[in-house]
Amino acid sequence: MKLIFLGPPGAGKGTQAERIAARYGLAHISTGDMLRAELRAGTPLGQQAQGYMNRGELVPDDIVVELVRVRLGEEDCQNGYILDGFPRTLTQAQIMDETSIDVDVVLNIEVADEKLVERLSGRRECKSCGAAYHVLYHPTHDGKTCDECGGELVTRSDDVPEVIRKRLVVYHRQTEPLKEYYRKQGKLTTVQGQEELAETTRIVLSAVAEAEAKL
Ligand code: AMP
Repeated sequence: MKLIFLGPPGAGKGTQAERIAARYGLAHISTGDMLRAELRAGTPLGQQAQGYMNRGELVPDDIVVELVRVRLGEEDCQNGYILDGFPRTLTQAQIMDETSIDVDVVLNIEVADEKLVERLSGRRECKSCGAAYHVLYHPTHDGKTCDECGGELVTRSDDVPEVIRKRLVVYHRQTEPLKEYYRKQGKLTTVQGQEELAETTRIVLSAVAEAEAKL
């Protein structure tokens, strides 16, 4: 199965994608995580992307598409994948279609903007390994260090109020039109991501199971 998880920043795409990927044995491909890994490793690509990410803008399409294209050639993607945070522009979606990057189902997770600001402000990440946490919904054992590697917890530089506002504007302007794009292709399934994590997972799992049954 080949899925896209669409939705605003803070909708829970990453958390839900991780759970569904584990359940169905799919590769979880998050372009945000991949770009942050490049940034931590100090690669030229990471340096190129950094300014856009810190300002809450989108990284240019050609950079992101190339990252995804290479990643999809890896062995673990042959069984299917979840694209989390990609595509984010109509151009990215069109390039996918033109280059035969297949998608069966687009799962659109809807959450109101007010809720997103609250969620994004409480997010923390491990400075060393990039693991994601939340002060209320997914705290670490001591609230200061990473459960995975003991690294220091920090707030992502794009999870501060003014950048959060910018990311929401960018989402509504550049990414939301993808809903219509995939609705026209008959691939869009919309779920509400407003609820608690476990309830959202239940809703997402049942939407994915329903979509899979139609394939
Ligand atoms: P995320 O972790 O998905 O919220 O992504 C963090 C940041 O990475 C975004 O605000 C963008 O700057 C960049 N990014 C991630 N995915 C994409 C994409 N598909 N296209 C352009 N920029 C992206």
